[in-house]
Amino acid sequence: MKVSVDGTRCQGHTLCAMIAPDSFELDDVDGHASPVNEVVPPDQEDAVREAAHSCPEQAIVIE
Ligand code: SF4
Repeated sequence: MKVSVDGTRCQGHTLCAMIAPDSFELDDVDGHASPVNEVVPPDQEDAVREAAHSCPEQAIVIE
């Protein structure tokens, strides 16, 4: 499973990093999220899916 964040949609709500703190990091400057690992470790897949469903901007793309 792969994850990416669409930077044109992300508004820096930080929800993803609260739900999956091991999987998303926030930029210090603009607060936008990016995945810690493009290829999601199996033990983080559920949290990444939950974060994707919770993102108000639908900015998290899972493949
Ligand atoms: S929840 Fe969505 S909009 Fe908010 S920081 Fe994460 S990716 Fe960006």
